[in-house]
Amino acid sequence: MANMITKGKEQVRGKSVLLFSGGLDSLMIDYIMKPDVLLNISMNSNYDRTERKTFDSIGIDKNKLVNLDEVMNLGMFERDDAIIPNRNAHLTLLASHFGETIWLGSVHGDRSFDKDEKFYTRMEDLLNHMWQSQHWTEERRFSISSPFKDRTKTDLVEEYLDRKGNPIYLYNSYSCYEGEEQHCGQCKACFRKWVAMENNGLNTKGYWKENPWDSPWLDEVLLAIYNGGYRGKEDADIIHALDKSPVYFKLDEYKLNGDTIYEN
Ligand SMILES: [Zn+2]
Repeated sequence: MANMITKGKEQVRGKSVLLFSGGLDSLMIDYIMKPDVLLNISMNSNYDRTERKTFDSIGIDKNKLVNLDEVMNLGMFERDDAIIPNRNAHLTLLASHFGETIWLGSVHGDRSFDKDEKFYTRMEDLLNHMWQSQHWTEERRFSISSPFKDRTKTDLVEEYLDRKGNPIYLYNSYSCYEGEEQHCGQCKACFRKWVAMENNGLNTKGYWKENPWDSPWLDEVLLAIYNGGYRGKEDADIIHALDKSPVYFKLDEYKLNGDTIYEN
């Protein structure tokens, strides 16, 4: 019989793994947390093809980088709004092959339920259950978290710069949902990147195809943003950035008299 790759028991890897898109957040979290493995999993979308082109110019140690391309095609489930439902559950399962400490690069203001505290605890439970000591594996115990879950993107850029992270890498990183060479400036990802950079004094003039503060969807959510019901803590960051933009003079219209409006 041929030698099977399953010969011998699976062993504890003893490594930390960051789910690494290569976008703004994940490059900063790599710089700050220094994981052993950067796990990049292709979604087979325009978005990550363009993102990958930047990997030589965002200051990462490419020896730590693992690209998984052929494992699954999550891109086939991508919605028009670029959401891939429950993506992090799939990614975390894949990450578990590389290490027991798994970090996700989400920040405060991210809104889906496959990156909240409950998800992490349940995923840990599930992995610990499946990786109990048994005939094919020794016991592996997992820890799953987002180290910057309570901080906004603006906070994260601030910490990165405080720790002498190179701002050039932030410009070089790619975060646009449109998947074209230049950042569109008006998708949600571009807008949030603009807010974080603007608030940290990083000049992005000429960086965007269209002005982030002119995003067509902004008008609809401005009332919620101005009253703290859009992305929670991140709303204050958004206002701070908008205050410095050419639309600042319109913003007073959106203030309510101390009432809080929540988005439905
Ligand atoms: Zn964009």
